[in-house]
Amino acid sequence: ISWSTGISTGDPTLRRRIEPWEFEVFFDPRELRKETCLLYEIKWGTSHKIWRSTARNTTSHAEMNFIEKFTSERCSDAPISCSITWFLSWSPCWECSKAIREFVSRHPSVTLVIYVARLYWHMDQQNRQGLRDLISSGVTVQIMRVSEYCHCWRNFVNYLPGKEAHCPRCPPLWMTLYALELHCIILSLPPCLKISRGHQNQLTLFRLTLQNCHYQTIPPHVLLATGLIQPYVTWR
Ligand SMILES: [Zn+2]
Repeated sequence: ISWSTGISTGDPTLRRRIEPWEFEVFFDPRELRKETCLLYEIKWGTSHKIWRSTARNTTSHAEMNFIEKFTSERCSDAPISCSITWFLSWSPCWECSKAIREFVSRHPSVTLVIYVARLYWHMDQQNRQGLRDLISSGVTVQIMRVSEYCHCWRNFVNYLPGKEAHCPRCPPLWMTLYALELHCIILSLPPCLKISRGHQNQLTLFRLTLQNCHYQTIPPHVLLATGLIQPYVTWR
């Protein structure tokens, strides 16, 4: 496999693309699918070309597979300058966060931006610390918004002819909940989003529990943006 499988335009094989149903099950923030899907873009140096490809977890996590592939396919040790963008269905676990930090510290001219659809076992303290360490090492971690979903749909999905603008939409509430929880992680606050995973056909429950520390620490505009919290209204 070479990087050339992911050329940005004129790809007649659509090899890099995933099927619309795969995009929906992997990236819908309400679905808690076990496997991870990674869609990635690499822009080398001053080139305007963007290389795109996709990866999954195998016996190793998708992030580890990317790092291994990237490292093994680079023959020289000359410093490379490139910008990498990941669209990950799950945020990195603490072990991957550690490997990513080592990767970016070995390649100081590489910038990495990670968009995630969901937070992976976000109640786990090690995973929370892993994300904090990752962010403080200079890696950008953000929750995927509508614009990222549409971008991935156009560039990574084998949509039917004429369906370019038909990116599946999930209610923005879920993106907001995960964004709020990521805020809590960054600020070292206790989790405010509780997810009870349903078994088989049972429903998965998403519950927002805000404590005083959340109200005191999270900027009010972030809380209000969720639409779940009402500003005070005076009534005489
Ligand atoms: Zn991992």
